[in-house]
Amino acid sequence: MNKFPTFNLYDYKDKKCNFHAHTTRCKHATGTEREYVENAIKAGFKVLGFSDHAPYLFEGGHVSHIRMFMEELEGYVRTIEELKSEYKNEIQIFTGLEMEYFPKLFDRTFAEIMKYPMDYLILGQHCFDDEVGFEYTGRKWEEESRLETYVERLTTAVDTGLFTYVAHPDIINYVGDADIYEKHMRRLARYLKDHNMPIEINVNGYREQKQYPKKAFLEIGVQEGCDFIIGVDAHRPEEMLDEENYRGCIALAESIGGEVLWK
Ligand SMILES: [Zn+2]
Ligand SMILES: [Zn+2]
Repeated sequence: MNKFPTFNLYDYKDKKCNFHAHTTRCKHATGTEREYVENAIKAGFKVLGFSDHAPYLFEGGHVSHIRMFMEELEGYVRTIEELKSEYKNEIQIFTGLEMEYFPKLFDRTFAEIMKYPMDYLILGQHCFDDEVGFEYTGRKWEEESRLETYVERLTTAVDTGLFTYVAHPDIINYVGDADIYEKHMRRLARYLKDHNMPIEINVNGYREQKQYPKKAFLEIGVQEGCDFIIGVDAHRPEEMLDEENYRGCIALAESIGGEVLWK
């Protein structure tokens, strides 16, 4: 398998960064790439990474309605490459993807993706095994086995060395016993810490009052010595300008003693 080019998040730590933004290709985001770039500049970002939902090679002819098609990847990469040079004096732009780790499908999908120039990948585990049937990790789950599988997927993905960080690691919506939650999620937090990955506090989830960012997980992260990063997870260009919720995420981390990089 191709090894992913080395991309170190911490190289950008003196700048205001966002590595989590989408485009219309995922079929649930709006606006042009240029609007995201211009709003990012307006909001004072020095670095913008596009991380649209990765195309995936599913089995059985499954067609996804929440991600780009593989045929769209070329246009995605080309559009961002053009903006990179056009705006190079104002903002540093990167081409990334937000991708699930689906064990049986990952290797061949990754090989296809790597035919194109890609700067980084973030892991966003929206489902467990594939997307067919859509077992959303953010649905309410009472079984410990679901939590265990979720953490297993993430740690296995981290082990590949191909992911830069984990988007909303607290997307799993385990509603059972708090001690069980802590046991598994502490293992995850330690894993992230050991692999130099900051914990993303997701502005989109914060704004929409989703199950993430989850304070209980952030507290575990603080106890384990993890750093924090803010991910705008923009699905509309205006969200790049949402300073209120961006600041809210920082305040949330700081209220529990967390250190946010790149404010
Ligand atoms: Zn999305
Ligand atoms: Zn996202």
